[in-house]
Amino acid sequence: MHHRPFKVSTVLLDMDGTLLDLHFDDQVWNYALPGRLATRDGTSLAQAKQRVADTLARERGTLRWYCLDHWSEVFGLSLHEIEAEQAGLIGVRPGTQAFLTHLQSCGIPAVLATNAHPRSLRLKLAKTGLGPYFSAVHSSHDYGLPKEHPAFWPAFVAKVGFDPASSIFVDDNLTVLRAARAWGISESYGITRPSSTGSAREYPDFPAVDRLDELNERCTGEGS
Ligand SMILES: [Mg+2]
Repeated sequence: MHHRPFKVSTVLLDMDGTLLDLHFDDQVWNYALPGRLATRDGTSLAQAKQRVADTLARERGTLRWYCLDHWSEVFGLSLHEIEAEQAGLIGVRPGTQAFLTHLQSCGIPAVLATNAHPRSLRLKLAKTGLGPYFSAVHSSHDYGLPKEHPAFWPAFVAKVGFDPASSIFVDDNLTVLRAARAWGISESYGITRPSSTGSAREYPDFPAVDRLDELNERCTGEGS
């Protein structure tokens, strides 16, 4: 990996698939929701899964794709209720806790930037207890733009007030990583396996880590 020699001033972190195991979200969208639809509509689970996948695909990359209120309306079922029901599956990825503790001990602020719906964000922070590790927690819903959108980044930086040139960013979404880079975040990382039960992801033009605590050495507060 080639790092510019800057001292890391802020670490920006995605939530789902980065801090937390994406297994929960996979279960909600690929099993729990289709299962409820299949029961309600008298279709097979496979048909319901296909319907959910096709319907979601039309909105991919937009803020609506991340909006539980929108999908609750589209499917006629409360996604908030389904998420609450499945909340036992919300899990912190290995290495997350160690990394956040490390940043705290180095005095490097961590900022959470997620596309998750604010209600989903609250549920996940309550369930994992990770909230206190962050100097700021932001849902893109409060900006009206997803992290994939180029205009999200200047608005986000203006609001949070960090220096993009000396910040590092970790996210499991390639489109988001590219939007952040295009705007001026010079060092970003992908996550190789966002779901503990899913397959590995590739990030053609970014370095990637499996566990966040692989970045401990990069974030020493000493410059590298
Ligand atoms: Mg993510």
